[in-house]
Amino acid sequence: MNAEKPVRKVVIVGGGTAGWMTAAVLSQWLSQVEINLVESEEIGTIGVGEATIPHIRNYLALAGIDALEMISASKASFKLGIQFIDWGAPGESYIHGFGKIGRDMLWLHPHQLWLAARDRVPDRVKAFDHYSMNCVACLKNRFAFPDSRNRNSPLADMDYAYHFDASLFARFLRGHSEERGVERIEGRIVDVTRNPESGFVEAVRLADGREVGGELFVDCSGMRALLIGGTLGIGYEDWSQWLLCDRAMAVPCESVSPLTPYTRSTARRAGWQWRIPLQHRIGNGYVYSSNLIGDEEVAEALLSNLDGKALADPRPVRFAPGRRVKAWDKNVVAIGLSSGFLEPLESTSIHLIQTGIHRLLAMFPSSGFSATDIDEYNFQSRTEYEDVRDFVIAHYKVTRRSGDPFWDHVRTMQVPDTLNQRFELFRSSGRFFKHGAAELFAEESWVQVLLGQGFEMRADPVTRFVPDDEIVGFLHDIEEVIADVAERLPDHAKFLRSLPPRSPPRPTTDTTVPAINFNLRYTRDSDELTSS
Ligand code: FAD
Repeated sequence: MNAEKPVRKVVIVGGGTAGWMTAAVLSQWLSQVEINLVESEEIGTIGVGEATIPHIRNYLALAGIDALEMISASKASFKLGIQFIDWGAPGESYIHGFGKIGRDMLWLHPHQLWLAARDRVPDRVKAFDHYSMNCVACLKNRFAFPDSRNRNSPLADMDYAYHFDASLFARFLRGHSEERGVERIEGRIVDVTRNPESGFVEAVRLADGREVGGELFVDCSGMRALLIGGTLGIGYEDWSQWLLCDRAMAVPCESVSPLTPYTRSTARRAGWQWRIPLQHRIGNGYVYSSNLIGDEEVAEALLSNLDGKALADPRPVRFAPGRRVKAWDKNVVAIGLSSGFLEPLESTSIHLIQTGIHRLLAMFPSSGFSATDIDEYNFQSRTEYEDVRDFVIAHYKVTRRSGDPFWDHVRTMQVPDTLNQRFELFRSSGRFFKHGAAELFAEESWVQVLLGQGFEMRADPVTRFVPDDEIVGFLHDIEEVIADVAERLPDHAKFLRSLPPRSPPRPTTDTTVPAINFNLRYTRDSDELTSS
């Protein structure tokens, strides 16, 4: 093969969220490439996957999509974080909010000061949620766009994502992709032709006998993994020793007021329940271990825990936690559920689709298909999956729930060494370091989840240099300013209604918040820990 010739024909197999997200980006950037997408209405899509993380905004930008157009077409709402109920122990709750927490005192992060205050003057510190702009806005059902013009405002580092209707989102992306020349081919793939020498896929054959040929095949066929698993036989690494859930029951219900700007996850007897508020309905589901609870009990529990009237019958979905051993093999790249599955506890699957697409663009092949590029792609994909896996496992391991076989198992299980090392560092000094720049979850995320679930950690010893009153005053300032600003933010539902239809995002009059800043007594430039 001639290594210099760029790939000119791409076939995307599957038209779920993964397929159309891939089509939208490739058609935006590779106008010289012919793109076909094959999907089967008879088979359909998984039809769930409605909560995202802030990086989705980068995806929309990469795909050249107007966010407000997406919000309107996909009945989206804003998401500032995830509320976890009963996870640490029954009766407890916390929020994993996006964005930065409070502000730093020199190099000391707010959680270090909070840990020190909690140990030394416990009655002078509030719950950790009070020091995060996102968390406080969640609890008040408020929302506004971040205000990056004023670096000292607590709104500067607010961050947000979306909840959207998965089917409407895929349809919306399809419209954009077809407009840019992607050809959609309806049909069920029944066979795959391979080159007898190289083993590369040459074409897929449809039930009606048509053949769709290409140079690069993107396998977005969902859990069927038609090409990467079925044709090329790439195996699946099973992570069920840590992640017991293998099934979900999903049901939409009518909306209720207020429209909450966060996903909710509530721990249940043998798993957990999600709640995702959209403009027109609420998505709900119970994720569970089918070894420890039956479908009937799950359906009953789910239906008795809905906020509004059910809009359909509960629908079961099976899955296998784990990842494809190689996401890219020969001329097939697996993106979406064909490449692996991690339960939606931290809404990461759509993000993993997005990074898969980004990586494919960065390593877009020539017809020579460089083995080095393929190895690099697979290395990055594996590392990313394992990092997210560890974060999800941490939610299960750090719990004081007991008495149910599910929770007794996860609380006492052995976890991956990589996670144990992270726990040790937190335990001894509350410290955290990313394993690599590309690691998805930052210190703020780990700290909120671990503290929220009752993980015992000691403050950084350096905090001993800071007098009690200094720490308390500093935290009080953060808490007071955040509470004040949050009170002035618009109501989430009102904010959504105020958005101008189909025009670029820009704050409306409703979002204008008076400039209230942190009281900057400490900066990285000062050389002593005293107030100025
Ligand atoms: P699918 O939607 O299954 O699409 C597969 C496509 O392949 C379909 O178009 C199908 O017709 C086609 N196809 C398959 N076989 C053939 C064939 N033989 N011939 C032709 N076409 C074929 N992710 C999040 O980020 N946030 C969440 O909140 C979230 N919640 C989830 C909840 C649950 C219970 C589950 C299971 C997943 C959740 N996910 C979530 C993951 C998310 O749903 C998926 O990552 C996303 O929908 C992508 O799916 P997909 O496109 O890979 O597969």
